[in-house]
Amino acid sequence: MSRFRSIDDLGELSGRQVLVRADLNVPMIDGEITDDTRLRAVAPTVQLLLDRGARVLLLSHFGRPKGRRIPELSLQPLTGPLAEILQVEVSFARGCTASEVAEAVALARTPVQLLENTRFHPGEETNDRAFALDMAALGTAFINDAFSVSHRAHASVTGLAEILPAAAGLAMEKELSALEAALTDPAHPVAAVVGGAKVSTKLGLLGNLAEKVDHLIIGGGMANTFLAAKGINVGASLCEHDLADTARDIMARADDAGCRIHLPVDVVVAKEFRANPAHRTCPADEVADDEMILDVGPASVREFIDVLEGCKTLIWNGPLGAFETPPFEAGTTALAKAAGDLTQQGKLLSVAGGGDTVAALAQAGARDAFSHVSTAGGATLEWMEGKVLPGLKALEKSGT
Ligand code: AMP
Repeated sequence: MSRFRSIDDLGELSGRQVLVRADLNVPMIDGEITDDTRLRAVAPTVQLLLDRGARVLLLSHFGRPKGRRIPELSLQPLTGPLAEILQVEVSFARGCTASEVAEAVALARTPVQLLENTRFHPGEETNDRAFALDMAALGTAFINDAFSVSHRAHASVTGLAEILPAAAGLAMEKELSALEAALTDPAHPVAAVVGGAKVSTKLGLLGNLAEKVDHLIIGGGMANTFLAAKGINVGASLCEHDLADTARDIMARADDAGCRIHLPVDVVVAKEFRANPAHRTCPADEVADDEMILDVGPASVREFIDVLEGCKTLIWNGPLGAFETPPFEAGTTALAKAAGDLTQQGKLLSVAGGGDTVAALAQAGARDAFSHVSTAGGATLEWMEGKVLPGLKALEKSGT
């Protein structure tokens, strides 16, 4: 059972006004929503609350107005699309606090009301208590259904959860149970794939995973730093030579924790970083001074697949190569497909997320084959780093 409170823990909801923090920060071009995934994500929670007789007040941020009322960053244009997705009437309130819209909220006849961008108030990002109390006065319960903002100690994320009876929404619960199954309480052996450009941006991740997983597969630009730390010449590759000691420290910590680190044994190299340049595959220790490592080679992929075949759980963050530039997506694509296949055969629970990972898996055509792909970049990364996310801490059962 999850350690977080759920909607059922809130008791009777009939006739109550429930504040729901969603992430409605959808991509828009010229007033048109280009991807409505985030609107759809909150629908199950809204539906459940309506079924239980509650009135729903939706809260979200939109863009970065930095505490000022910026008309272009109003949430009002989402009212129609939300009504269509939720299949109920939705009205819009021109504020998100009781002092601004208590009357309008009380008069509205719609089952769902969308409140204005929380970030129009400077108190949102500073988690100002008076602002949180003013928002809280609009409802009698709070639901956080926005995992993607839960690494932020903002008023509409943590402030409200500390003031009102609070619980995780259904989208949040789905995200949490996938992440818990992969990292908090996973079936062993566990493999982690960590790729991406630099070691420096993923020190927390590497450190945490090295102590928790059984196999740590390292690819991408960051593998070059590890290879170099082992005395291997990586030529003109992207490499943080000044982090050699850090890389050695991570390898030592992994060793102490019984975690095996797997680095590429062969690599794909080129002299220019552009689409389809002349390139070759060579053993990882035979890179020439003027060559750059841009992908892992097929022998490495074979080895990495062997590791995954012996594991029950996979956690993946970051591409194994410069996947946006053909043909350097091949390693990422091959491993992602294999992980997707193992998942579909019921042999592997696979959870991926953070930054470019979603794009890399989608490009590989493997996104839907994974058990769970988290689209919440920063929040997922912080979870994988083992950090306590303030928005989640506020929903823990022990906090009741
Ligand atoms: P990150 O956001 O840290 O996950 O890094 C993703 C970026 O790392 C992508 O833009 C990739 O193109 C880049 N990347 C992965 N492998 C390499 C490599 N061997 N050399 C240069 N860039 C790489």
